[in-house]
Amino acid sequence: MSDTIAALATPLGRAAIGIVRMSGPASDAILKKLTGREPPPARTAVLRPVLDADGAVLDQALVLRFVAPASYTGEDMAEIHAHGSPVILERILARVFALGARPAAPGEFTRRAVENGKMDLTQAEAVAAAIEASTLRAAKEAQKQLAGALGRRIEAWMQHLLDITAQMEAWLDFPEEDIPPPVALAEEMQTLAAEMRALIGTAHLGERLFRGVSLAIVGEPNVGKSSLLNRLLGEERAIVSAIPGTTRDLVEADLEIAGVPVRLVDTAGLRTSDDPIEAEGIRRAREAVARADLILLVVDATDPARRPALPRPPDLVVANKADLLQGQASAPCADALLVSAKTGKGLAALEERLAALVAGQGAENEDVLITRARQREALVRAEAALAEAAGHLQAGRLDVAAMEARRAWAALGEILGMGDVETILDRVFARFCIGK
Ligand code: GDP
Repeated sequence: MSDTIAALATPLGRAAIGIVRMSGPASDAILKKLTGREPPPARTAVLRPVLDADGAVLDQALVLRFVAPASYTGEDMAEIHAHGSPVILERILARVFALGARPAAPGEFTRRAVENGKMDLTQAEAVAAAIEASTLRAAKEAQKQLAGALGRRIEAWMQHLLDITAQMEAWLDFPEEDIPPPVALAEEMQTLAAEMRALIGTAHLGERLFRGVSLAIVGEPNVGKSSLLNRLLGEERAIVSAIPGTTRDLVEADLEIAGVPVRLVDTAGLRTSDDPIEAEGIRRAREAVARADLILLVVDATDPARRPALPRPPDLVVANKADLLQGQASAPCADALLVSAKTGKGLAALEERLAALVAGQGAENEDVLITRARQREALVRAEAALAEAAGHLQAGRLDVAAMEARRAWAALGEILGMGDVETILDRVFARFCIGK
């Protein structure tokens, strides 16, 4: 039987309410001592005094209990919704520990939910993702995964693979029956592998939805980088000035493009300078550009050849100050999107291009996304093993094919939290917050 864990489920700060949460067999007993009363019926919120060790009332709190297995963790649970004062909450938590609970480790409530079969690992990851989400699109994607969309997909593949493997094993086990080798299975496995590749293709967007993307705006001084950034942000964030080299430091700003959190980095002009402060800005700019996921190069439409040296080709070139072209052909900027930060010309097209760059391709036709590197890595291994299996089967090496198919099955199982459970769980839950 497991022990009883407790943690603050809300941030420690002043708020209307703060919640202390417990899970484990001693939850009821602790709640009883803490309130000096019989615990309320399951799933019924009641107002109870919360008592200090000497019986003094610490707070009047809403108390709620869940009875195993009908709870988040699958164990007996209790929640104390106290007033959101750090002093009160810390004292209540101290009392709960004194009465027999121990502090929960990060993600331990959810880990217990997985261990007790209340959810699979993709759903547990979705809990963390839902909390992490910084855009509405990310939050909605997390909810889909929490509802089990990804888990069901993986489970169906595993079932199918089990079927295929069983057929291969049957053939291997009864060679004397003289049945022709089940080569048609190779095609089935290839179809499965293709479906997996399609899902792997969603990881690009799925992971970016939560991790975010950095976009460096680079270009010679005075081409209008800050003006463009302000336009994209819809606010005056970077300092705009007509004197080259004003943007000495990096200006960072967060915005949302295509539902993906994007960190925009406006860099000091990438050029050399004797001014030590500016030189430092330039050094940081180079670093930021090298690190950035995407590079947006801004040039002056009236002098588009003037460009800084970049660590790699830009993802998008924008020719700004289109308003100054005065009917001139934009031929010199053939590779660039013509815009004007001043008039707003071309900005809608720029936003569209940025959205396409940020979201990337691969997620258009899928109803569920891979959102974690862990899921992607396991899926990549499953796909590779399956492709191998199909190849071996076609070449008549049925025993090796069956082995590879089993490996693919096991890799899929990892995504759901099967296999070397402890190691996988340790890795996943280390990233959780305490109280979840
Ligand atoms: P940065 O050094 O690249 O960040 O350039 P800024 O955004 O500070 O702009 C430099 C100068 O160009 C400022 O005087 C801006 O007002 C001007 N500027 C920026 N965008 C445009 C534009 O689209 N058209 C015109 N005519 N001037 C612009």
